[in-house]
Amino acid sequence: MAKYCSRCMISFDVEICPACGNKRVKEAEPGDLCFLTEKDRIWAGVLADVLKQNGIPFLRKSSIGAGMAIRTGPMFETITFYVCHKQLEKAGGIVDELFSQDVETDYGEDESE
Ligand SMILES: [Zn+2]
Repeated sequence: MAKYCSRCMISFDVEICPACGNKRVKEAEPGDLCFLTEKDRIWAGVLADVLKQNGIPFLRKSSIGAGMAIRTGPMFETITFYVCHKQLEKAGGIVDELFSQDVETDYGEDESE
């Protein structure tokens, strides 16, 4: 049975939260919001679209407030995604599929010239 830390909003399979050491974790329930991933603004838009297409409801939190976004520029903003525990596995699979590709594209074609 998966456990859940409401402080960190993550789900795991051990008795103590691996992120904060919280021992008072509860059993994960289908409706618990779990951390999915963190992306910059551009990828967050892509991911939001794909999650919507797959019918997965999600919650987005910006790393900075609206006022800060104007001052530092939107490029520095990261968006954190949360999904219900029951959707976490499916959503995690989507994230893996979506973002595993950009690791390979970075391999130095530029150096051929
Ligand atoms: Zn925790």
